[in-house]
Amino acid sequence: MASSFKDICPVDVGPVYEGERIRGKDMQLEFGGPNVKYKFELVQVRDAKEIEDGKVSVVGPDIKDLQQGGSYPLGILVEVAGAQVEKDLEGVLERRIHEFTNYIEGVMHLNQRYDIWIRVSQSSFKKGLNSLKYVGNVLARLYKAEFPIIEKIQVTYITDPEKVKEMYEKALKIYEARDARARGLRDEDVEEFYGCVLCQSFAPTHVCIITPNRVSLCGSINWFDARAAARVDPKGPNFKVEKGELLDPVVGEYSGANAAAKEKSLGEVTRVYLYSMFGHPHTSCGCFEAIAFYIPEVDGVGIVDRNYQGPAVNGLPFSTMANQTGGGKQVEGFLGIAIEYMRSPKFLQADGGWNRVVWMPSYVKERVLDAIPENLRDKIATEKDVSSTAELKEFLKAKGHPVVEHWKAVEAPAAAEATAEGEAEMTVPELAIPVEGVPAIGGGIQLIFKNVKIRADKLIIKRVEKSKK
Ligand code: SF4
Ligand code: ZN
Repeated sequence: MASSFKDICPVDVGPVYEGERIRGKDMQLEFGGPNVKYKFELVQVRDAKEIEDGKVSVVGPDIKDLQQGGSYPLGILVEVAGAQVEKDLEGVLERRIHEFTNYIEGVMHLNQRYDIWIRVSQSSFKKGLNSLKYVGNVLARLYKAEFPIIEKIQVTYITDPEKVKEMYEKALKIYEARDARARGLRDEDVEEFYGCVLCQSFAPTHVCIITPNRVSLCGSINWFDARAAARVDPKGPNFKVEKGELLDPVVGEYSGANAAAKEKSLGEVTRVYLYSMFGHPHTSCGCFEAIAFYIPEVDGVGIVDRNYQGPAVNGLPFSTMANQTGGGKQVEGFLGIAIEYMRSPKFLQADGGWNRVVWMPSYVKERVLDAIPENLRDKIATEKDVSSTAELKEFLKAKGHPVVEHWKAVEAPAAAEATAEGEAEMTVPELAIPVEGVPAIGGGIQLIFKNVKIRADKLIIKRVEKSKK
């Protein structure tokens, strides 16, 4: 493969470079990333007559014009046309920018959409990779090779800060429109789900199960996108997943999703809960937009996104938790998610959903505010309210967050003073309950309460020694 790019790019190109990491000290420069606000990548389907096939342009300063070691804004616009190229394909085509850019020796691409981060290594720069045009040439060729339905393609890199900013606003609206489309649909309404294994090059056992209520964790492929991709490119990374039997509607376990995960992870993952971060949570690769993490001190869930600087409320920064979460594993209590998943009516449904969320960065809260139930909005803390789990505990108590009720429920029986409602099941190996007029009973008995209501001012359980009988 490498040789076929010699005419259009001064460095090697091939999947072998995909996992390459470029550290800060080795980079010539970077585009996007945490130091840059305005950055995006966008694929748009156009009319054939609007596109000059193979044209690659750079609007603003190019790699060679920019200072070594700097971080710069960047917008990537890939425009495609073809009789069979539908608008629905934009999302999945866009996701491939990540893969194709990573094929280039000495170029690293991370994340997606409005969150991209691209580094060019000094060594590739020295070999002549001094223009984004080379990167665009490679992209155009790879797209056409991979998707024969693309008849025309043109790639534009925008580095002019003003223009990036202007286009960024437009791009956000386009992403929002794509996301909004899937919001009206429920998992129960569709005949089949879809999957994606594009990230297996980094996380070999990772399989995304994409449903209307569970957008992929990278946030860039929803159910419609995956469906469109599976149709035009059945041998590609997106595939249909038969729903099979709904084994558990609360945790979101489907026999078909289990089977697909098992097959595509080569037996590594056999069960997947779509709506829970416990038990058998969905695997996480590395490109999740945010992490949902369990906070045992308050029995709640925190959310931290990729752009959050500094330690989260549990004292761990995003990067540390990302290492723990990612790599294609199922890690109970740590789950990679898309920001959009927080808008899902099935968001962590089995774990209590929003009732369990106790902390998140203020700007993320702002962004999803309309999805947070109104009665919880002031009860979820941010970095502006608390900076440790001890402070968080006080905050939740003061605000009357629903998890506080849960603490009481857990603490009360330990103190043997309880008011229990609903169904309770209790197993006591050695128990004696002296009741007036009834002799005390002893030995291995079991009491099972079902659908009972117990109200008592005080409940005293005393062990009666056998010798006293
Ligand atoms: Fe595909 Fe999932 Fe990776 Fe997104 S995170 S590219 S949906 S495998
Ligand atoms: Zn990934």
